This record gives sequence, structure tokens and C-alpha cells, in this order.
Amino acid sequence: MGTIYAIANQKGGVGKTTTAVNVAACVAEAGYPTLLVDIDAQANATVALGVDKTTEPSVYDVLRGDVEAAAAVVGTDIEGLSLLPANPDLAAATVELAREDGSETRLRDALEPLRDRFRFLLLDCPPSLGPLTINALAAADRVIVPVQTEYFALEGLAGLLDTLKLIQRRLNPRLAIAGMLLTMHDSRTRLSNDVEREVRQHFPDLVFDTVIPRNVRISEAPSYGVPVIHHDPHSSGSSAYFDLAKEMVARG
Ligand code: ADP
Ligand code: MG
Repeated sequence: MGTIYAIANQKGGVGKTTTAVNVAACVAEAGYPTLLVDIDAQANATVALGVDKTTEPSVYDVLRGDVEAAAAVVGTDIEGLSLLPANPDLAAATVELAREDGSETRLRDALEPLRDRFRFLLLDCPPSLGPLTINALAAADRVIVPVQTEYFALEGLAGLLDTLKLIQRRLNPRLAIAGMLLTMHDSRTRLSNDVEREVRQHFPDLVFDTVIPRNVRISEAPSYGVPVIHHDPHSSGSSAYFDLAKEMVARG
């Protein structure tokens, strides 16, 4: 049975997509059949894996119930890594899902048949706590919360944790926090080190040991349509995402 991870934080630009794409590539490279599900209408994860964002069918058609999830899954250049692509049409799903009662479990139901085909299923969430993120949290076993190592890092995290508790109570009792992940860390700056200390103090036991450094190779990789481990396997970004994959697998 595959484990479903949602990569969520209602803040934009904190490293959700970067983490989803790169950790998915690392676990696939380690030999685990993996599916990345892009549920952001910006389709950044889709493009970062070299897939056209007008690909159809997409996760939008799956959420509408028009096609089975298996029929929308495409392969990628990374062995063992498949993608359920997003498409800009997905913006409409936010409105459509909000209108329908009981639509919170659409994604969970759609992914159920894929659970025995993949060991890891990673869901790249949009930057909001809207219906798509709620669908992801209702489907997930675990949530990874990327936190940008910046001033205001803690802002919004309390609200996110409240939402997680509500989802656990109402929709998905098995949802657990895999961890908060510090991203874009710059060990040369005092700010990064202060923020890391503060987040670890505030959320003891909840923060991954692995910290993702700010690394230009990580930010370049999407423009080549490949994860950082293919763009520059020897970069600090590659080794950090490998470490995270190891930690994720070890934490079970
Ligand atoms: P989100 O999905 O949360 O909106 P992204 O993953 O798209 O955030 O990251 C926002 C921006 O920061 C992107 O341009 C991305 O390339 C860049 N970025 C993310 N992580 C790193 C990193 N560790 N080092 C350098 N740039 C990064
Ligand atoms: Mg994103």
C-alpha cells in the first residue's frame, strides 16, 4: 500500500513545488515507484518535470469524475516516477468543488485504485487552504510543511496546524504531520540560523533534521524540465533532497 504525502502551506513561494518534485525524484531514484500529483493550477510541478501543462486528461478531469486517475497518469524521464499532471483548467475546480457537498473526498476516492501501484504518492498543493488543499489533506496519510527560513516564517503556521486538526477530526483521522521542512536556508546569514533555532524551539520533534539550503542549482533545474538530481547531482541541493528522502523513508 502506498503512502500519500501532501506538501502543503498556504503561503506561496516557500518551496512546496520544489520539495514535491525533488523528493519525488529522489525516492523514485532509490527504487520506489512514485507518483507526483500536481493539484496547483499554476502547473509548476508538471512543467518542472518536463511535461506540457496543456496535457489532457489532467487531474482536473479526474476531479470532475470524467476519467479514472490511472488514465491521466503519464511517465517522466525519471525512472520510477510518474505524474498526474495539472492544467490551468484546474482553476475552475476551486469554484466547482466549493459548490458541491461532499466534494472534499474526490481526490482520495480517485487515488485509491493507484495506491497499490505506487509506494509513494506526493501531492503538490496550491498556496491556499481552499478546496484543492482540503482534498489533498483528506486524501493524505502525512503532510510535509515546507517553511521558508525567512523573517515571518512562523506566521501562518498556527493557522495551518488548526486546519490540520480540523481535517483530522472531521475528514481524515489518519492524517499525521510528517514534518516541517526548513527551506532556502542560508547558513552564512544570522537570520537563517535564528529562524531555524526559533522554529525548532517552537515545534520540538516536528521539524525534519534535514534542512534544504538555498542553492542556485535547485532554482535553475525547472527551466530544464528536470529535478536537481539530474541537473547537478553533486550540488548541495541534490544531497539535501536525498537526505530528506532518506529521512522520510526512515520515518515510515
Ligand atoms: P511554492 O510551491 O511553495 O510556491 P516553489 O517551490 O515554487 O514554492 O519555490 C518558490 C521559488 O523559490 C521558485 O522560484 C524556486 O525555484 C525557488 N526555490 C525553492 N527552493 C529553493 C532553494 N532551496 N534554493 C534556491 N531557490 C529555491
Ligand atoms: Mg507551488
